[in-house]
Amino acid sequence: MKNLSIRLKITLWFSAFIILIVGLTFVAVLSVGNTVIQKTIQDNLIEAVESNVDEIEYINNPYDTENDRDADLYIDYMDGYLEIDDDYLDRVNGITTALYQKDKTLLYGENPILKETYNMAFTDNEIQKVSVKGKTYYIFDRYLEKSGIAGLWLRGIVCEDQGATQFSSMVSLSLIILPILLIFALLGGYIIAGRILNPVHKISEVASLISQGNDLKKRIEIGKGNDELHQLANTFNSMFQRLDTSFEAEQQLTSDISHELRTPMSVIMAQCEYSLEAEQSNNEYREAMEVIQRQGRKMTNLITDILDFKRLEQNSEKYTCEKIDLSALVTSMCEDMALIRDKGIELSFDVQEGIHFKGNYNLLCRLLTNLISNGYRYGKPDGHIYVSLKQSENKISLSVSDDGIGIEKEKQSRIFDRFYQADPQRSNNGTGLGLSMAQEIAKFHKGEIKVESTIGKGSTFTLLLDSNV
Ligand code: ADP
Repeated sequence: MKNLSIRLKITLWFSAFIILIVGLTFVAVLSVGNTVIQKTIQDNLIEAVESNVDEIEYINNPYDTENDRDADLYIDYMDGYLEIDDDYLDRVNGITTALYQKDKTLLYGENPILKETYNMAFTDNEIQKVSVKGKTYYIFDRYLEKSGIAGLWLRGIVCEDQGATQFSSMVSLSLIILPILLIFALLGGYIIAGRILNPVHKISEVASLISQGNDLKKRIEIGKGNDELHQLANTFNSMFQRLDTSFEAEQQLTSDISHELRTPMSVIMAQCEYSLEAEQSNNEYREAMEVIQRQGRKMTNLITDILDFKRLEQNSEKYTCEKIDLSALVTSMCEDMALIRDKGIELSFDVQEGIHFKGNYNLLCRLLTNLISNGYRYGKPDGHIYVSLKQSENKISLSVSDDGIGIEKEKQSRIFDRFYQADPQRSNNGTGLGLSMAQEIAKFHKGEIKVESTIGKGSTFTLLLDSNV
């Protein structure tokens, strides 16, 4: 059973169920049918006898013109005659009716079990049952009361077998019709099960195509609908979509990383080859080592940044959020970073007191560090960095401005892309990941980062957060 297809399993269960129902119906029809038929036979017997009661009369003279003599029958009786009307039914539906005198003398009609019922006393208006040679007969007697014929009895007899013919024809009809119905039901069930399961075939077909060919662009197409299978197909499709997107992102990241690592690696290789080619002076060796050290540092920064970026993107660190005194955080960071004074750049800040935010302390420090570091990196000598934190209604705004080199208008939209550097010559050990990391941190806190910049005049980066405490 386990190895059978679902379609076959459904059909088998369905068939078993239908056979059970048909079987029960058949048994019910047989038992009810037989009772009904026996009851009908008895009713017919009573009706036949009752209708014959009115067809018997006593007359003195059959040639009396008042009598309708056409097809009537006259039997000598007492001083006159018994007139049996032509409507009298001798034999109908296997029922025979016989006219008796009270001493059991048969005057008219027939009785197939005459001998066997000879000793049976007449009982008015009652059905009696008698068994003769293994067959059951119903007998119904009626006492005639009309003047002249009072004292006579009409006895109707019918064999129970009479119903057997009707019953057996009903049974054989059922035996033909029910299997035909069963076959139609099974065929219908098989076809319906096939139709219902059709989407499942499509789902497994696409899933196996994807697993064989690694083509995550494939989608399950089973038309419109909102049943369980359509919902399953939609769930699969959105899962394929997500897998596709993350596979593409992964591929993009791998190619970006190899691209970024290729430059420092080639510089290192070139330096090594050059130094090993021929005997060099100590100074030249030193210079080569310095280049290798610089490039090595760049690669280390790159790898650290990529790992941090990935951790943040996948939230693998499970960064937690807690209530932070943002004013205190910004103030202490600014105080510390003001000490850098790289290129003689001066950092000043204006922090509104008492601003609180529910977020991750380390990530927010990282974001501010990235923005201030860029201020130093792309600032002009003896320039300024200005940090401001303020809250208006439900918005918190943290901005870092510098009066450095600025960013060209058309490059501003790309600076948040991974590894993008508007001016690689000026970015020293920068990896091109700082701003995309900052943007990822902003997204983590359901905020956004905006940039305003004028080439040659400076830039302002603003983090906008929704107050959440
Ligand atoms: P990098 O490591 O190169 O600084 P970022 O992601 O931090 O990478 O920045 C991306 C690019 O945006 C930088 O290479 C630089 O060209 C530009 N940029 C970022 N901050 C500033 C700024 N304050 N002034 C001018 N250009 C900036």
